Amino acid sequence: MLPQRNTLTLVCCLALASGCAQHHVPPPAAPASTGTKARIRVTDLSKHGPQYRDVVKYLRWFADTDLCAECSHFFGGKERLKKYIDDLLKYDLLAVGRATDLKNPSLRISAFVNTGGVMVPAGFMAMFIDLDGVFFNETLDICGYRGGSDAARKLLLGHELAHALERPGIVPDLDDLNGCIANTRLVLANCLSTFISAHSSQQNR
Ligand SMILES: [Zn+2]
Repeated sequence: MLPQRNTLTLVCCLALASGCAQHHVPPPAAPASTGTKARIRVTDLSKHGPQYRDVVKYLRWFADTDLCAECSHFFGGKERLKKYIDDLLKYDLLAVGRATDLKNPSLRISAFVNTGGVMVPAGFMAMFIDLDGVFFNETLDICGYRGGSDAARKLLLGHELAHALERPGIVPDLDDLNGCIANTRLVLANCLSTFISAHSSQQNR
């Protein structure tokens, strides 16, 4: 179901279906359906190293940069966004690694927040970024932005942060590629000037 926003048509992401397999897992507190067991397997988990630090750098960008007013509003205010990111890092709840959806192994998972249904100890992480996903992988794209690029990284994290902060219009998109794309488009529609102006100024350097 599309979010109730009519600004989405401003941005075309239709070329991107293959690049938008981010993944949202219901929070641990959500009522478990009967017979629920872990369906996401993660390997190569790490909270150290250059790739982990790359993600931290971009999360800090979200926390510290001057987001455009529309983008800030979309995230429920700069302070709330900053608090989430500060706490995520302070309590060591970010991890990178490689995720496999056991139910649908062909699905490429780029990231998820909350970790119900994931084979890690409770409380180990609240945000996961996949080492082969669009944050790092130049063969993928997200809404037309090449994987690994500045804009793609911001867009991916923006998508996950919008889930984490339960922003209006963001729909659960586990098993829902159209929902995933709609979510990404909603983030882009609200934050395009933030992402692109920062992107351009960096490119022009
Ligand atoms: Zn999502």
